[in-house]
Amino acid sequence: MKLDPKAIRYLTSEDFKVLAGVEAGSRNHEVVPTPLISQLSGLRGGSGVHRSISNLAKINLIAKVKNSKYDGYRLTYGGLDYLALNAHQKQKVVYSVGNQIGVGKESDIVVVAHSSGSQRILKIHRLGRISFRTVKTNRDYLRHRSTGSWMYMSRLAAMKEFAFMKALRENGFSVPEPIAQNRHTIVMSLIDAFPLRQISKVPNPEGLYSELMEMILELARFGLIHGDFNEFNLLIKEEVDADAREKYTPDTKLDDVADEDIRLVPVLIDFPQMVSIDHMNAEMYFDRDVNCVKRYFQRKFHFVSEVPGPTFAQARKNFMKNPGKRLDIEVEASGFSRKMARELEKYMQDVGADGDGREDGEDEEGSEEEEEESGEESGSETGEPNEAESSKEADKDVEESSQQLEGLK
Ligand code: ADP
Ligand code: MG
Repeated sequence: MKLDPKAIRYLTSEDFKVLAGVEAGSRNHEVVPTPLISQLSGLRGGSGVHRSISNLAKINLIAKVKNSKYDGYRLTYGGLDYLALNAHQKQKVVYSVGNQIGVGKESDIVVVAHSSGSQRILKIHRLGRISFRTVKTNRDYLRHRSTGSWMYMSRLAAMKEFAFMKALRENGFSVPEPIAQNRHTIVMSLIDAFPLRQISKVPNPEGLYSELMEMILELARFGLIHGDFNEFNLLIKEEVDADAREKYTPDTKLDDVADEDIRLVPVLIDFPQMVSIDHMNAEMYFDRDVNCVKRYFQRKFHFVSEVPGPTFAQARKNFMKNPGKRLDIEVEASGFSRKMARELEKYMQDVGADGDGREDGEDEEGSEEEEEESGEESGSETGEPNEAESSKEADKDVEESSQQLEGLK
């Protein structure tokens, strides 16, 4: 589902109040009855509220649901996007919305601008956007899925990512600068660089490789394992090497800098799946991160390190001997509680939200999930059903949900 900011300019403050009313009602109503929307919007009832409701429904920010005991509305992902965007605009974090540069399985990445003109990244978490294939094995989520749960889970993912990015940034790690978080979105600095995945040649693979391994170890020394440390989540910035700086003027273009004077600086992104070094499966996650880099360097750059490891035992030893600040604990204290972490982790596991899809062993071109859904309806729901894979029981679930969806069209 794409963020479509076109209509935001035409919404009145009343429309936003009504939208916020639907959001508030969605927390404990699957379908928010119209009188409740009026009440929660804080507007005096009457034609104004109804006009707003029909405006919002027309542009799919809320969706009418007829097929239940009463008529009412539910918030769509688009509606939640607008609420978050509106908040960022009010707080002067975002001035305008530019191009969408990424559509992941669990997020959309959009370039936005600050009023100063500087570009930033808006990351919109979309944890409810789960493929039918993965849902099938976890039918409970299909059955019990609710507006409340995708909204809540996506917000948890954004909160977690923001908290970790902040803690990492404050402790000297090479990550984007976290700027703001609202609902299911975060705003961060734009890194002017390509993911490692898109870099075909590295002058000194060994140097970059050891830097990445050091980064994994350094994270562990601060109590953390990234959990999705791969070529998509490492942006590679090019800088003039400190030793060579006097050879160039400050405005020399990078293209004019000799290859041997360029230093590659990895910037790590994508933190919703980070775990503590005390996590039950810490070793598995740690090894997976390490092996991911190893495999990638071997395949892409034909580089195999002569140094084995690093192993989890080594990482733990470092951590015990010379610990950094416990960022896993700091993050807990910052408001992203252990309980939230558990809820999010369980949800992500159950719906197969496992990073950039490397789990299937396919980090080749084909790994991008085909985006099947076309409109908001499926975006906020279950994804398009895939007949080939649906069992009878799942069919029934889909029937139920498509009946509800009918009402949305
Ligand atoms: P996902 O959880 O969907 O994998 P990511 O945070 O990894 O989302 O972002 C997806 C892609 O968007 C990245 O691979 C990268 O190309 C781009 N991207 C994300 N954050 C930034 C940023 N701060 N600056 C530049 N590009 C970014
Ligand atoms: Mg990613």
